[in-house]
Amino acid sequence: MVEAQLVGLDPRVEAFLQGGPKKLFIGGDFVESVSGKTFDSVNPANAEVITAVYEADKEDVDRAVEAAERAFYGDWAKVTPSERGRLLWKLADLMDDHLEALAQLESLDNGKPVAHARAVDIPLAIDHFRYYAGWATKISGELIDSSAGRSMLTYTRREPVGVVGQIIPWNFPILMSAWKLGAALATGNAVILKTAEQTPLSALYLAGLIQQAGFPDGVVNIISGFGPTAGAAIVTHPRIRKVAFTGSTEVGKLIMQQASGNLKRVSLELGGKSPNIIFPDADFSKAIPGALMGIFFNQGQVCTAGSRLFVHKKVYDNVVADMTSHAAKMKLGPGLDESTDIGPLVSAEQFSRVSGYLHKGVEEGATPTTGGRPLEHPGYFVPPTIFTDVSDQMTIAREEIFGPVVVALPFDDEAQIADVIRRANNTEYGLAAGVWTTDVRKAHKVAHALEAGTVWVNCYNALDASVPFGGYKQSGFGREMGSAALELYTQVKAVWVNLD
Ligand code: ADP
Repeated sequence: MVEAQLVGLDPRVEAFLQGGPKKLFIGGDFVESVSGKTFDSVNPANAEVITAVYEADKEDVDRAVEAAERAFYGDWAKVTPSERGRLLWKLADLMDDHLEALAQLESLDNGKPVAHARAVDIPLAIDHFRYYAGWATKISGELIDSSAGRSMLTYTRREPVGVVGQIIPWNFPILMSAWKLGAALATGNAVILKTAEQTPLSALYLAGLIQQAGFPDGVVNIISGFGPTAGAAIVTHPRIRKVAFTGSTEVGKLIMQQASGNLKRVSLELGGKSPNIIFPDADFSKAIPGALMGIFFNQGQVCTAGSRLFVHKKVYDNVVADMTSHAAKMKLGPGLDESTDIGPLVSAEQFSRVSGYLHKGVEEGATPTTGGRPLEHPGYFVPPTIFTDVSDQMTIAREEIFGPVVVALPFDDEAQIADVIRRANNTEYGLAAGVWTTDVRKAHKVAHALEAGTVWVNCYNALDASVPFGGYKQSGFGREMGSAALELYTQVKAVWVNLD
């Protein structure tokens, strides 16, 4: 591995990382945890500690709930929708000013290529805040005319839910923060956001920008901590009215059970094992790079990763050979190296999980055409891996790997397409799917038949703040983004006025 072209750290990142453990953002201030405990955030490119971070637990969640309630019933309730929109827009502008620092911090903490963070993660997050800034002034109830003639005036209001808890994963810390905060704030809720223990840093930097933008104290609280402690304290808190979670299906199930105590509203964005289907009439100049990006972007640590690649047998050998030669040339390196295509996985735990799947794949009889073995390096590097000789029943074809590993599965029905759709849908997941064909009828037919919350035709991983996103089946429920997310964060009240 050649370690060249490392970016010079932005002075704002250097300044951020100085001065002892990073503090929690509660009630508009940066504070130590009640216990005084800290944990380390580790650079996955070299396994070295970046900085310590204060570790939130139940008492800190209690404090954050107090602060959020005070804001929700106090200052935040007095802020007009247009002012809410202005604050969100201001935050987006500040993020623009701090784009490089945010991108570097994201890369340092998560391992992702800084070029990707700069071009994708941070701009999408900024866009997201701008999109929801626009919604703040457009949330309204309706007048219901069917009561006319009864001397009644009936109308509805869309009111915020109250104090909401949000728990995010480590794969896109800033983008997931934006997905969670944008709709919740536009609709007037107060928030406690918990980052993943692997990647607490960029959201704490964002907290500084939230403070600078001028949101009233306590409207946004950002805490760092672990799932079974701080996370569980959010999920079980009697005065938190809703929990929004993005993460694994396993933890999603736990959250749903634990949230039943006070019947919290729950929305879950969970795992996937998404099918990506290449028909023989595809435009291969788009399908090959699309399939590569579909699985290898963000080191494959993407809930929508196109990890089951169905390729028609007529073109299977060529597609696999082409993808193999591209994947073999991808450059592994630290995220902060400008020339890196594939960074390290996020943590030692993730490295050993993914390595275990590589081992399991070979053990079950699959053949890697490239990659297949983790790198021996202080960081957590796994090369892009393409498996052939895979059957639908193998572990690597069924379970979410969350790493740069794709199984290439041939299919042979073309006229019918029923068989490949049945195989594509034969999973408990249903987050996303891809279809590559130049036949417009087939494209729509397949898109309609796939059991997935998002279907990409002749593209993959396309996202926009205006387009709803979420899962079918065990990939979760509730839709983030677009107007759909407003429903997660508002409740409808009917008002009856007797005019007699
Ligand atoms: P992954 O498997 O991708 O690491 P997880 O689902 O374990 O994802 O974690 C996603 C988020 O959920 C993280 O912020 C983590 O701290 C949190 N989390 C994990 N376990 C729990 C739990 N029991 N209750 C609440 N939050 C949890």
